[in-house]
Amino acid sequence: MREIFPALFGNEATKSRIGDAILSSRLPHALLIDGQEGSGKYTLALEIAAAINCERRGDPTASLPCHGCPRCKRIFGGGFVDLHTLERDESRATIGVDPVKEMRRDMFLSATEADCKVYIVRDAEKLTTEAQNALLIVLEEPPEGVLIMLLASGTDKILTTIKSRTQYIPMARFSNGEIGEYLLKTDKEAERVRNVDPEGFDIAIASADGRIGLAKELITPESRERIAEERAETLAIINSLGRGKSYRDIYAAVGDLPKKRTELAVALERLMQAVAELIKVGYSGDGVSLSFFRSTEEAETVGESISRAKLFKLYDIVSRAYDDNSKNANTAALLSTLSAELRMA
Ligand SMILES: [Zn+2]
Repeated sequence: MREIFPALFGNEATKSRIGDAILSSRLPHALLIDGQEGSGKYTLALEIAAAINCERRGDPTASLPCHGCPRCKRIFGGGFVDLHTLERDESRATIGVDPVKEMRRDMFLSATEADCKVYIVRDAEKLTTEAQNALLIVLEEPPEGVLIMLLASGTDKILTTIKSRTQYIPMARFSNGEIGEYLLKTDKEAERVRNVDPEGFDIAIASADGRIGLAKELITPESRERIAEERAETLAIINSLGRGKSYRDIYAAVGDLPKKRTELAVALERLMQAVAELIKVGYSGDGVSLSFFRSTEEAETVGESISRAKLFKLYDIVSRAYDDNSKNANTAALLSTLSAELRMA
């Protein structure tokens, strides 16, 4: 059978559905590709852009796209003039209407070399309402030979009118096992990491929470070191509530939490995630999807010395602190309240 979208891992049903649509010239003119950061949205968008323009598209002995013809090479290597990507300016929180209008104008110009001009909008959930409305016109009445792909991490902020004029394509979330297998197959560095630091390798994969792109970033030495420190902080707080621990342990563990509001929010979120996993593993054992703990066994070992009632209390106390932090409470005061409440838990 012909291989479709070879650069994208997994997502088999999606790949064959879109591949069939391309081969029978039934691909809709606008797609909404939805998945978390690092889930492969951009890879998929490039694969589609190449597939509809590939010079060997009609050749069933080549993969789709072939990755070898001049057009494929330019699409993946940059320099394909009929491929346009709209990205958020990093210094801004949103994508405003002006770049969308400019992109819209361009859609009505004829193609230079493509069979189908391609427009990719990254972070589409960051488009302002005005920008989305500007886009709506071309989604309703698309110019000939134009494909628009909106890539979003969640679609809550996307207007219903946009959603109804685009085909929705959700990206798959992978199990830790699948991610590990993929990394080892495609990345020599991953194999080395697994050999020198098997624990760090597993932790990085679990921390990626189902996202292959993120897992690739997390196996670097700097990331592994950072994750190890953050985990130690989180585990110190959980362990300080175990049998035989004193107020001193709680105080020391809370004292290590970051004082900066945004960093504290992330640390508290991680703590809530870890405690939630301990509670779930306590109830359901195997089969719980884990992102803080590497394995059910690890979670069981950590949870052993803390009663379930205490874990629930811990969860509530931490989520209250998280809430206060987001309401701009003074972080030093918040942390001392946290220590006091944990002591009484
Ligand atoms: Zn090609």
